[in-house]
Amino acid sequence: MLVSRELPMNIQHDVSLKPYNTFGIDVFAHAFVGVTTHEELDDTLFHVCGFERSFVLGGGSNVLFTRNFDGLVVHLALRGIRVYSEDDEFVTIESSAGERWDDLVQYCVERNWGGIENLSLIPGTVGAAPVQNIGAYGVELQDTIVCVQGVMRQTGDQRIFTREQCRFGYRDSVFKRELRDQCIVTSIRLRLRKNPRAEHLSVRYGAIAAELGQKLLSECTIRDVSEAVRRIRRSKLPNPAELGNAGSFFKNPEVTHEVAERIKREFPAMPLFPALKDAPLVKLPAGWLIEQCGWKGKRIGNTGAHIQQALVLVNYGGASGNEVFACAQAIQESVQVRFGVRLEMEVNIV
Ligand SMILES: Cc1cc2nc3c(=O)[nH]c(=O)nc-3n(C[C@H](O)[C@H](O)[C@H](O)COP(=O)(O)OP(=O)(O)OC[C@H]3O[C@@H](n4cnc5c(N)ncnc54)[C@H](O)[C@@H]3O)c2cc1C
Repeated sequence: MLVSRELPMNIQHDVSLKPYNTFGIDVFAHAFVGVTTHEELDDTLFHVCGFERSFVLGGGSNVLFTRNFDGLVVHLALRGIRVYSEDDEFVTIESSAGERWDDLVQYCVERNWGGIENLSLIPGTVGAAPVQNIGAYGVELQDTIVCVQGVMRQTGDQRIFTREQCRFGYRDSVFKRELRDQCIVTSIRLRLRKNPRAEHLSVRYGAIAAELGQKLLSECTIRDVSEAVRRIRRSKLPNPAELGNAGSFFKNPEVTHEVAERIKREFPAMPLFPALKDAPLVKLPAGWLIEQCGWKGKRIGNTGAHIQQALVLVNYGGASGNEVFACAQAIQESVQVRFGVRLEMEVNIV
């Protein structure tokens, strides 16, 4: 239950969110509070009721602000990583939500704890990672997660969600759906393998295997994998510090085998992700679909699809959130008309 506290709330007014989102969109929050302790979080929850709307912000690497936010932005910066339990083979670590995701990855790689090295260099915070079940290079957060701890915004009640209760899917979880805007993730626990052997590493993903090159896969370490992923990402993705973006703007659409076959007949060059055995749906490469519609490198005003990665929309400087959103809608429309497939936005539109 929420209890009123006397702590002074460090709420600021009319704060620019430009430094807090990787698109670099310049909108203002009516009210803004940075939360670094659980006491401050309790206090914030007590005050949240006084605002019509509130929004939890981590690293701002998966949001597109399309207007000023007329409520309270809660910038979560709870820190701390600890070993929760361990045995000879596995370690369970607990990380607070405000830790940078990639700091956590590096912390584990340094200790030779395997499981999240393929997720190296993904921007953002630990707390947002379960929200969209981050994934890259054949690995998703759900592969190592034990549970998510959170606090309910309305009541202040603390909850623990097991992996099953998180209902993870492709860039999806209960926190994006039924519990959207209801639960603030405060920490997560991951179960990682100590000193993994090469056979435990996930290196079958084409780009990683190619990057590891001549190195015998049987001799690879998690540091090798992490460094390979870092090199690939740096060569392929625009750095938000130089060019505003939020990574992939759209999810790869999942369609039935019939639809995939129909498109493949018409466009034999379309690459297909290997279908999982007995899976009812097939993923189509959104980047390829967008590229075929002529969007790769296309610029409209201050925004457009990146020259190397059509899936990544960028802010060339001074773009408004609405400009980027309109471009995203135009891309959706082109893909729908050409392929009959609806692209779903991965980025959260606020
Ligand atoms: C260059 C680049 C590359 C990327 N590559 C990948 C990739 O390979 N794979 C991938 O999956 N993603 C990728 N992303 C997207 C992004 O990094 C992830 O979605 C990341 O988890 C977002 O973290 P964040 O802290 O920035 O979240 P924010 O952008 O701050 O928030 C995202 C959403 O989560 C909610 N949220 C944030 N924190 C909490 C919390 N503690 N409790 C409850 N809700 C919360 C917010 O309200 C919002 O709805 C990339 C982004 C960029 C810019």
